[in-house]
Amino acid sequence: MAKAKVVVLGGGVGGTFVANKLAKHTDKIEVTVVDATGVHHYQPGLLYVPFGWEQPERLRHDERKLLHPVVQLVRSPVELVDVDKRQLRLLHDGTLPYDYLVIATGSCPVPDEIPGLADGGYHFYTEPSALRLREALHNFQGGRIVVGIAGFPYKCPPAPIEFTLLLDDWLRQRKLRDKTEIVFVTPLPQVFSIPTVVPLIEELFNRKGIKVETFFNTESVDPEKRKVISLEGTELDYDLLVLIPPHRGSPVIDASGIGDKGGWVPTDKFTLQVKGHERLFAIGDATDLPVSKSGAAAHFEAPIVVHNLLQLIEGKEPAAHYDGSVMCFVEAGDGKATVLRFNYERPPQPPKPSVLWRWMKALMNRFYPVAIPRGIALDVMFATLQGKFFPSPPFCGSELMEKMRQGDLRDA
Ligand SMILES: Cc1cc2nc3c(=O)[nH]c(=O)nc-3n(C[C@H](O)[C@H](O)[C@H](O)COP(=O)(O)OP(=O)(O)OC[C@H]3O[C@@H](n4cnc5c(N)ncnc54)[C@H](O)[C@@H]3O)c2cc1C
Repeated sequence: MAKAKVVVLGGGVGGTFVANKLAKHTDKIEVTVVDATGVHHYQPGLLYVPFGWEQPERLRHDERKLLHPVVQLVRSPVELVDVDKRQLRLLHDGTLPYDYLVIATGSCPVPDEIPGLADGGYHFYTEPSALRLREALHNFQGGRIVVGIAGFPYKCPPAPIEFTLLLDDWLRQRKLRDKTEIVFVTPLPQVFSIPTVVPLIEELFNRKGIKVETFFNTESVDPEKRKVISLEGTELDYDLLVLIPPHRGSPVIDASGIGDKGGWVPTDKFTLQVKGHERLFAIGDATDLPVSKSGAAAHFEAPIVVHNLLQLIEGKEPAAHYDGSVMCFVEAGDGKATVLRFNYERPPQPPKPSVLWRWMKALMNRFYPVAIPRGIALDVMFATLQGKFFPSPPFCGSELMEKMRQGDLRDA
């Protein structure tokens, strides 16, 4: 029997996880990843770039090296998903047919949705913007920094909070904190979208003298007068503006007529099938799922997609259900972090920030390029942290720790 052609559109976190898990089933399927650039960006590291604590080139990885050798890689932007003909139209190289498609095209910040934001504000959600912000921060000599969120949804909901707390640390280190007012703006009635996390963030912000302006729906930015204006009529002067732009799905989703009005793919929250398209699955930021757009969500979704896809190929009903699991380490400043673990049913109960969680976050950031090709190491880490079992995980082995200390994880 001919093998089913499975194509994964997008070689980011979700696409790479899925493809590497599918690689174990090449007796039944052929797996191809199509990615616009073939360069895999580890986006969580961008948080540190504006402070000069991370170099962008360390966050870029050759997708070919992250993928299992049996997975084929096509480097080309996809212009269109033609669901009727079951093929992708590639920008330069014709078409690519599929029997089953996994959409993993991520999300993009779109500053142009807010007049004046592209010229008047900074953010750190892409490499070029994080580098621009690095330059602006390093020229900053004191004044008012307005930082926050310009629209929902956006990926990694805690990242603007983390940035604000790290900014406080960074300004203190540079002896600029006494000369700087930090104001955090959000369209929400509270500082964060998940109520159980709000008390911890309020406590941290209060302790660090960070002001919060709620009900601030950014309407426009006036770069000349250095003012940010909300729909509610509040105007804030700023010396430096760091505002996470509203996000949209990848343009290919709109072009293919398979998205909603935000460019998100309507996805069954349990089976992860694209609604109305049996042979299509979606994963990660590209979906309209009611969970944080995060690499962690994509990680937990990947085995569900793989299981259900294989079931379909065997003519069975997709029976595996994603429970909405997400787990994120969150920087809390002062060299500490906390962790948010939650799912559709259970909200997070963040523990007191500690150096242990900060260490786990650093470990995760370091370990990622090695863990992905192996397909298992992150599973072990997440399962351990979720309390599923508690033996010493393999990454605590002394040989591996030594390699990490030396910054050499390639062969670990
Ligand atoms: C500053 C920052 C900090 C973050 N911190 C965390 C964190 O601590 N924990 C966490 O879990 N998550 C974090 N995230 C979020 C995380 O990086 C994303 O949620 C994750 O990358 C989503 O994975 P994805 O596979 O859905 O999309 P992506 O990883 O963005 O991959 C999408 C891929 O699709 C490709 N693509 C898109 N359109 C096309 C097309 N038309 N043709 C071909 N290819 C296409 C892109 O080139 C890209 O390679 C952070 C993000 C940022 C920006």
